Amino acid sequence: MIIKPKFRGFICTTSHPAGCAHSVQEQINYVKQQKPIQGPKKVLVIGASTGYGLASRIVATFGSGASTLGVFLEKPASNGNTATAGWYNTAAFETAATEAGYYAKSINGDAFSDQVKEKTIALIKEELGQVDLVVYSIAAPRRTHPVSGEMFTSVIKPIGDSFTSKTVDMNSNEIVDVTLEPASEQEIRSTVAVMGGEDWERWMHHLKEAGVLASGATTISYSYIGPKITYPIYKEGTIGRAKDHLYAASKEINKQIQDINGRAFVAVNKALVTQASAAIPVVPLYLMLLARVLGKKGLDENCIEQMYRLLASRLYCAEKLPSGDHLIRIDDYEMQDDVQAEVSALWEKVCSGEIDIIPDLEKYRKEFFKLFGFGFDDVQYEEDVREEVPILSIK
Ligand code: NAD
Repeated sequence: MIIKPKFRGFICTTSHPAGCAHSVQEQINYVKQQKPIQGPKKVLVIGASTGYGLASRIVATFGSGASTLGVFLEKPASNGNTATAGWYNTAAFETAATEAGYYAKSINGDAFSDQVKEKTIALIKEELGQVDLVVYSIAAPRRTHPVSGEMFTSVIKPIGDSFTSKTVDMNSNEIVDVTLEPASEQEIRSTVAVMGGEDWERWMHHLKEAGVLASGATTISYSYIGPKITYPIYKEGTIGRAKDHLYAASKEINKQIQDINGRAFVAVNKALVTQASAAIPVVPLYLMLLARVLGKKGLDENCIEQMYRLLASRLYCAEKLPSGDHLIRIDDYEMQDDVQAEVSALWEKVCSGEIDIIPDLEKYRKEFFKLFGFGFDDVQYEEDVREEVPILSIK
């Protein structure tokens, strides 16, 4: 089968197995070129197949020699449709990790369910004994509550007032105005239920009760703050409310795992092109300008570079650990005053039509399609590929 990208809305509905494998290998190569990390040895990554979770898994394995168990929700190929990118990424990651002598197994299922939690715990007990790092990196559109059965759908909306801003229309490549109406109380509650910290707390509670958390275990989840221009849609919107809840959950988890000398953190990461961020209006335009400014200053980082720096120079580097509040800032380059001043100036110029962003848009598009395995120079896209690629360990 010859696989071409098919773009719909803000996602690509096809993925390329060889391209995804190439992307995973590039990330592995990056980590192997860095200094080894004296870090975790047995790691559970929840949300392990794409974006920050996948990068965390690669850094733990190839940077710190860890055995990893990955949980995610992805689709294998079926009826002539390709698998999802996260499926192909994981197949490639597991093959590379296993060939290099590392333990790597995966569970494909709904991480919000108790069933997947139980399955994960059983596998840890059987094969790893305990884990010393739990990464919680879920970005999901909906969640069914495991106790009440209630279905929650997350929305990306401002709170209080409507918000009008410039955004990029990815279909027409034009800068257009977008107005987002404020969320209802129910929408705020739903977004917090999906993207807040309740499920992370449930995971940690179950893992601890089952005795599968090693003494001194660490857990981390990811957040974003960003600049004032995106506050109404991010920090002060529904997703920001969910992230406040995630941070509050980290404090609860810290208390929960104090008796085993455990520690819980929220890392505030840099804004990056991922499947999750592409879905947020306004953010892609900001991302394009941010990449331009950071690139010029030699400060731009991708997922793997961010996650390597997080583990190597924050989480497993005693002297730089945050003291009181357990909030780790790895968005420091993005938030530098000079960077933000330049991005704001560019933003004004884009809004007034003074500058052309076509080159930035092309770059963004390239990054976006790479998430699905398209656009790598070394991949032969005209060659027939089998869309069915197994993940050997899948449970
Ligand atoms: P992503 O879309 O690349 O990855 C999401 C992961 O969650 C995938 O592995 C997917 O399979 C998994 N997942 C989704 N629903 C699931 C379910 N029901 N059960 C099991 N797995 C499920 O997202 P990302 O951008 O890497 O985001 C990960 C975290 O990082 C999120 O908390 C996000 O808010 C945060 N973050 C992202 C950015 C950014 O710019 N992308 C910046 C800072 C923080």
